[in-house]
Amino acid sequence: MNLILLGPPGAGKGTQAKRLEDVYGIVQLSTGDMLRAEVDSGSELGKQAKGIMEAGDLVPDALIIDMISGRIDLDDCKQGFILDGFPRTVPQADALGSMLTDKGLQIDHVIAIEADSEAVVARVTGRYTCSECGSGYHDEFQKPVKDGICDKCGSSDFTRRADDNAETVRNRLSAYEEQTAPIIAYYGEKGILKTVDGMADIDVVTAKLKEVIG
Ligand code: ADP
Ligand code: ADP
Ligand code: ZN
Repeated sequence: MNLILLGPPGAGKGTQAKRLEDVYGIVQLSTGDMLRAEVDSGSELGKQAKGIMEAGDLVPDALIIDMISGRIDLDDCKQGFILDGFPRTVPQADALGSMLTDKGLQIDHVIAIEADSEAVVARVTGRYTCSECGSGYHDEFQKPVKDGICDKCGSSDFTRRADDNAETVRNRLSAYEEQTAPIIAYYGEKGILKTVDGMADIDVVTAKLKEVIG
């Protein structure tokens, strides 16, 4: 089963994708995570993406499309995948459609997680991640059970993203409204779009997603 999770920064795409991985035995493909790994490794792609990401703008479509196409070909995607943060423009959505047709694959559900702007700013600015296992947390909304210790792996090493500050988030939200929101209508017209209220508690959102996916 192949899914697309849509929604503004901070809607909960990554949080929910990690949970759906376990439920359905499929793999999360986060273009943001993949790009951050490229930046950390100092690759050519990482060098091109770094400044763009720090400003909260979108990385050029052609770079993203090549990156995701290669990723979908890897063995761990055989049972299915969850696209998190891709597609983000109508040209990316078009490219995904033809890419999947060429690979003999298709998207089963496109789910838009809806959340309002003020809430997502608070979510993004309080977000942090376990450096060891990638588990996501929030200063207020999703604290580890034991302060300073990752629930999943026990690490006490956490990181915050360079672009998770109030100013950059505003720009990321504009990029979302202008360039990404139109793909909600795009998938609506194809008849495969579902929406879920992302303002509910994390567990409630997971339950709704499972209901929608069936
Ligand atoms: P996205 O991948 O869409 O940018 P994340 O899943 O990283 O969003 O969530 C952003 C932040 O908000 C994280 O710190 C996460 O713990 C928190 N969060 C996610 N979903 C909810 C929710 N339903 N209610 C409150 N906080 C949430
Ligand atoms: P969030 O979880 O807050 O929605 P992401 O981790 O998905 O943010 O993306 C972080 C940054 O990486 C974006 O602001 C953008 O610069 C870049 N990026 C990620 N995915 C894409 C994409 N599909 N197209 C263009 N740029 C992307
Ligand atoms: Zn951890």
